[in-house]
Amino acid sequence: MIDCGEGTQMQMQRYKFSYRKLSHVFISHLHGDHYLGLMGMISTFNLFNRKDPLYVFGPEALKDVLDLHLKVSDVHLNYDLIFYPLLKKEVIYEDEKLTVSCFPLKHRIPTWGFLFKEKENSERNLNKEFIEKFRPGIEQIHKIKYGADFQAQEGAILKNEDITYFPKSLSYAYCCDTLYDEELIPEIRGVDLLYHEATFGNKNEAIAGNKFHSTAAQAATLAAKAGAGKLLLGHFSARYIDREELLDEARYVFPNSELSKEGETYTIV
Ligand SMILES: [Zn+2]
Repeated sequence: MIDCGEGTQMQMQRYKFSYRKLSHVFISHLHGDHYLGLMGMISTFNLFNRKDPLYVFGPEALKDVLDLHLKVSDVHLNYDLIFYPLLKKEVIYEDEKLTVSCFPLKHRIPTWGFLFKEKENSERNLNKEFIEKFRPGIEQIHKIKYGADFQAQEGAILKNEDITYFPKSLSYAYCCDTLYDEELIPEIRGVDLLYHEATFGNKNEAIAGNKFHSTAAQAATLAAKAGAGKLLLGHFSARYIDREELLDEARYVFPNSELSKEGETYTIV
């Protein structure tokens, strides 16, 4: 989970997201709309008798907030709450498939962006046409995935590189909240999907700067300069009832832009 604003638990119920699936929470900064749901969620997990540890990554001061909350409410968690402070740009999580790294954003208080990156694949995928034509068995599929050639019944040998490919490693970057900042480009270069805040539109560019936020066009400029595959806009100011205006301004700069909408699923390709 990335950020945990007020109402997160209600949204999880509404969209039928199982609490059990959640093991890691990444908090970008300590403005209320990004973390005020966390204490409630931690307490609910306790009521549900959670046993699995919960890992929370966030600005250093979040530890004080969590400790004080647990102290004054006299809650003794029956699971481990493991807090990792974000202090510098680094890899903060790694497993066999994925790395997560954090990098600083420019906002009014310490704020962090996150990059989720799949590791390079060592297994190859089999071409669909090959599977349909030759219908290899499970054992053969396993061997081919690790580099073996395929012997067809007629005797011909199909070379591994002609019947397989390496699947692309996908990446997702989350940049919220932040000023327009070209220093982010090396952090997010070539990312498949970039989520970037777009609090304001072109007319309010000066306000965006003063409040350490960005416009939709600035988010799009960054997506273009970083060579992102797709841009997802979010964190809209309440003044924009019709967000098409923001989308138009972004698409003018970076056509593959989209508005993020509640409850929608976005596939990274
Ligand atoms: Zn903020």
